[in-house]
Amino acid sequence: MDFYCRYVLGFRTLDEESKKNSIRKFQILGFRFNFQLFQASARIRLRFLFADLIMSIGPGESSIPENDVVIVGSGPAGLTCAIYLARSGVVPVVLMGDVPGGQLIKTDVIENYPGFQEVSGCDLMMKMMSQAEFLGTKFIYEQVNAVSKIDGGFRLVLNSGETLSSMAILIATGATHKKIGCPGEDDFTNKGVSWCATCDGPLLKGNKVVAVVGGGNTAVTEALFLSKFAGRVFLIHRRSGLRADKIMQDKLFANDKIEMIWNSEVTEILGDQALKSIRLKNFTDNSEKILEVDGLFIAIGTVPASSIVRDLVDTDDNGYIKAANTLTSCDGLFAAGDVVSGSLKQAIFAAGSSALAAKRIEEYLWMR
Ligand code: NDP
Repeated sequence: MDFYCRYVLGFRTLDEESKKNSIRKFQILGFRFNFQLFQASARIRLRFLFADLIMSIGPGESSIPENDVVIVGSGPAGLTCAIYLARSGVVPVVLMGDVPGGQLIKTDVIENYPGFQEVSGCDLMMKMMSQAEFLGTKFIYEQVNAVSKIDGGFRLVLNSGETLSSMAILIATGATHKKIGCPGEDDFTNKGVSWCATCDGPLLKGNKVVAVVGGGNTAVTEALFLSKFAGRVFLIHRRSGLRADKIMQDKLFANDKIEMIWNSEVTEILGDQALKSIRLKNFTDNSEKILEVDGLFIAIGTVPASSIVRDLVDTDDNGYIKAANTLTSCDGLFAAGDVVSGSLKQAIFAAGSSALAAKRIEEYLWMR
């Protein structure tokens, strides 16, 4: 019964008569195709009765990983996969990382997630977390330090030094914020320099002057959000055209608290105990100027959080994992969401690609 509950889609929702029929059909199939159920490490598994297959399974039942699937990452990709797997009877373990909910937890407003005209990233992620938990997902609030291949699956070493083993893994670690790389950036991080307007913006109320760097949707969203608190907001972009969606640009240009600084980059971040000003270089005439600011928000894109599996899977030149419909070059290791090469960096895409990952993982577990 455990086998059916864990692996046969929808079995749990069948009535008693249908369950008996399913078991009968399964016994007939087992007779025809030479397999039977057997107990291994407190689980019920399929065993094929061909001699060579029994030998390949061997006596090593103790090497069977303790988990069916471990999901690394708790953004929309990780949690969607957990929701789908949990509903199909697999018990997913999600490694939540440092910030449960991923990048979206820090996003002020999302206006393009279907079903929500407007929702805060935090609300959306809290809903996903409670849905996954309700369905039986196990959460572990730790980061993964290393992943390696072992017999029958993978071994994960956590920050605490604890280890987990799993037959399959989903890498849904997303991407982390890109740095400018100029002098002063590290010195004034959390001392006026931030990558999260939602977290730090409300501290800059009144006549404060803030600057945002970037030209994409994140930078524009951050600038609009900051304009609710600060007296003046500068948006600094290295080109003369924004990458952000037109609807976002329209809102930006209609906001009289926000001023654009085009064709410019931040070359130095200055201050003493805390940030005081930034040095700007204009590309059109190579001129430099110092702009006094109380806060600097950097929103220039992301880098993939793929280092834990860099030795196991193929990646593109920027370190994003190459995956065809969530299948990576490493058998049993799946990837979805922002960490995947060429993915549309949108919550809905992360969620959608991860629903597919859940299907692929289910098939993978079924075939083992
Ligand atoms: P993007 O990659 O879209 O934009 C990054 C911006 O930073 C670009 O304008 C880029 O300039 C600039 N940039 C990159 N590197 C540097 C650098 N070293 N110095 C100065 N500027 C630099 O990243 P986002 O984080 O904005 O967005 C990521 C994805 O998430 C996108 O697909 C976006 O649409 C989506 N998103 C959607 C939201 C929503 O719909 N509500 C909200 C936030 C993000 P250049 O243009 O010259 O390359």
